[in-house]
Amino acid sequence: MINSNIVPDHVYEEICKKENIEINELKKNVEKGFTAILYNPNHKNVKPLAVGKDMLVKMNANIGTSPGCSDQTLEIEKLRLCEQYDVDAVMDLSLGENIRQLRQNIINNTYIPVGTVPIYELFYYNQDLQENLIDKYLQILEESGQDGVDFVVIHAGLLSNHLELVKKRIIKVTSRGGSFLLKWMKKYNKENFLYTHFDKILEVCKKYNMTISLGDSMRPGTIIDETDEAQIEELINIGKLVLRAREAGVQTMVEGPGHIPYHKIALNIELEKKHCHGAPFYVLGPLVTDIAPGYDHITAAIGATLAAVSGADFLCYVTPSEHLALPNIADVKEGIMAFKIAAHAADLTRGKNIDRDRNMSIARANLDWEGQRKYSLDPTSFDKYQRKKPSELNACTMCGDFCALK
Ligand code: SF4
Repeated sequence: MINSNIVPDHVYEEICKKENIEINELKKNVEKGFTAILYNPNHKNVKPLAVGKDMLVKMNANIGTSPGCSDQTLEIEKLRLCEQYDVDAVMDLSLGENIRQLRQNIINNTYIPVGTVPIYELFYYNQDLQENLIDKYLQILEESGQDGVDFVVIHAGLLSNHLELVKKRIIKVTSRGGSFLLKWMKKYNKENFLYTHFDKILEVCKKYNMTISLGDSMRPGTIIDETDEAQIEELINIGKLVLRAREAGVQTMVEGPGHIPYHKIALNIELEKKHCHGAPFYVLGPLVTDIAPGYDHITAAIGATLAAVSGADFLCYVTPSEHLALPNIADVKEGIMAFKIAAHAADLTRGKNIDRDRNMSIARANLDWEGQRKYSLDPTSFDKYQRKKPSELNACTMCGDFCALK
């Protein structure tokens, strides 16, 4: 059981106000591990975020450099955009030079909770190292905690016997962290050191209250490979790690696919909740088809909406440049908007957050254009598509004189 004192009372009070929930109820869910609070006290000015049971659905935006695109200023611009559009969490997925410097820069520049994937930093700098990887990994984890990282992805659920299970797949592995680990495990014929040293990882995460997001190395990279043995076997092992983390007093979330056809999404949520003992579920998309590169923010938002309606708690955005390039500013914005809509649509089905829709509808009924702009998720798009200001008739150019609302 998690000790609810891992976060101070003022954090609970802040969250309860936003989520409209009783403090004792929230504490109970944190103790049971059904809700995780992303909050590392070393992240100065962080706005703590609750993910899980009875909470509003949350969305995350990925930022960070890649070896081919290492403009740190651009990544900070993306961060500003995340703040402007009220993104709940950001993940720094940087893979390139000066990883720690950018991480510190991001954390020191935002109140949004920040997540990272320590295995990226480890393998970027130590690609050929066979021994002592865990020591270097723990050092990166320690530094991440000191820097104020609020949640970390740990791919500890992957086991060497899972390797056999991907043989029939079209795309064997799509997880970046998973592919680093698999390559190392195969090359040196060793078990996943994140699994064998999980207790040491728990100690560091506990020290800084970094929530662990248990990464799914075996997530399918195409809807054809969905919900296969490799994915489920890893999920079952992840469920065991959830219990070990709870025992050690460390908060966890579980990551999920990826690519799932529409009719299998509810089943995937059900499986995670069952095998992972009600731990918050953080889904990457999921994309409901593989044939729409350039529009993957839409294929993923369709999947994310159904996932959240079916019980997923946290949605990781996908941008139009998914599978094609590192997203630019415009792509990041498209991804944010698609996932803000997905999260909000799911909240409405849970009877939450309806006031803004009501206000928008009243403004629409009254042909109150300023009001409509104010309640829109993105006023700049409102202006862009309105193109022409309403005529003296006050109608828009769609129906003009024949405006039904008049
Ligand atoms: S003109 Fe047509 S589309 Fe425009 S506000 Fe009136 S009814 Fe709606």
